[in-house]
Amino acid sequence: MVFRYDDVSEVSSTEIERRLVGIFRARGIACTFAVVPFAMRKQGGSDRQEEAPLGDEKARFLREGIESGTVDVALHGHSHQYLPLSVTGGVHSEFISLPLGDQRQKIAEGKAYLKRVLGVEVRTFVPPNNAYDAQTLEALVDAGIPCLSAARDGETLPETTLKYLPTTLNSLYDLEAAVAMARKSRGGSRLVAVLLHEWAFTEFRRTDSSGHEYAARPMEFETFCGILDRLLEQKDVAIRSVAQCIEDSDDLSAKRLLANRPIECAPAWICAVFSRGVYLSTGEAQRARLRYWAATVLFYALVLAGAGAGAYGAARWVRRRSALVLGFGTVGTLLGLAAVVGWVFRDGRVHPRGAVAIVVSLGATAGLLAAAAPKRCRMSAQSAKTVQEHS
Ligand SMILES: [Zn+2]
Repeated sequence: MVFRYDDVSEVSSTEIERRLVGIFRARGIACTFAVVPFAMRKQGGSDRQEEAPLGDEKARFLREGIESGTVDVALHGHSHQYLPLSVTGGVHSEFISLPLGDQRQKIAEGKAYLKRVLGVEVRTFVPPNNAYDAQTLEALVDAGIPCLSAARDGETLPETTLKYLPTTLNSLYDLEAAVAMARKSRGGSRLVAVLLHEWAFTEFRRTDSSGHEYAARPMEFETFCGILDRLLEQKDVAIRSVAQCIEDSDDLSAKRLLANRPIECAPAWICAVFSRGVYLSTGEAQRARLRYWAATVLFYALVLAGAGAGAYGAARWVRRRSALVLGFGTVGTLLGLAAVVGWVFRDGRVHPRGAVAIVVSLGATAGLLAAAAPKRCRMSAQSAKTVQEHS
């Protein structure tokens, strides 16, 4: 198991970070802190603001955490300031679409700064919002940073030694279920990597006056400690930092990342291992992927057949009463199919709900067209079948 705590910077809550370090240190385990070297006063925006590099107090606190072996520092972008969405193609990112030279400079500056202020040689890069492109990977290789930690759907470079350790979970409430799921899957090393922010904890939200709206349910530190203790009692569970995983030479290859890539159009209940946050070994993920694809194809074939049969039956019933209504219905369904296809492909990605909508529309259209076909066609098809049967 890996815990990655993002957005540590001069403007983040040192109080929450102290509590977290205390919890990890008391249990003799480490956490990866993704540190923003030159944060903005307000993180994540795209407007120009004053930079806030790490101050003395924050730097001292982080150095103590590093010396005690509790804090593993990763480089989290440069300023965490997002580029305009028109530049990045609609993704919140500090790096996507930026020229290679600029990416190189940002990463090298951040790495050198953390070396100077914290005395660490960072070995992991965490792109803000987990968003990066192929140029970011090239810049990392040039900067001598051996590992990228983002999400499971990012790009890879085919022929480098760059390692990938993606996070697989965003909610602490799903943690124990993910570990149980990992235990059930067979073969090789399995990893559950949790992404944390200060707002994952109730104690932070009680003091936060920014008016920020949070998506995930927060957790009390006490509950979190209970989960950690239960996990540490389990002999087959180990909690390690990203740096420890790199040192132990776990398989963090591009091949493993590609094998664990979520199947976008497959319903979550089919891809249970992937969707519940388990990062399988390369071999096991490849085998699971084949099973998931087969189950996905079967699922959509059944949906198509069901929608087609349903629409055919309904259309035959309508046809007996009014051919005109059936005609309007058929035209309406064709227009509906076109609208559904346009809606589903609007962002270039096909999610399960969209895929089901397309398959249902296709089935319904096929069923209606079959029922609305002129009687002579259907009769001649019927008589051809009869002739075949007799011959
Ligand atoms: Zn961040």
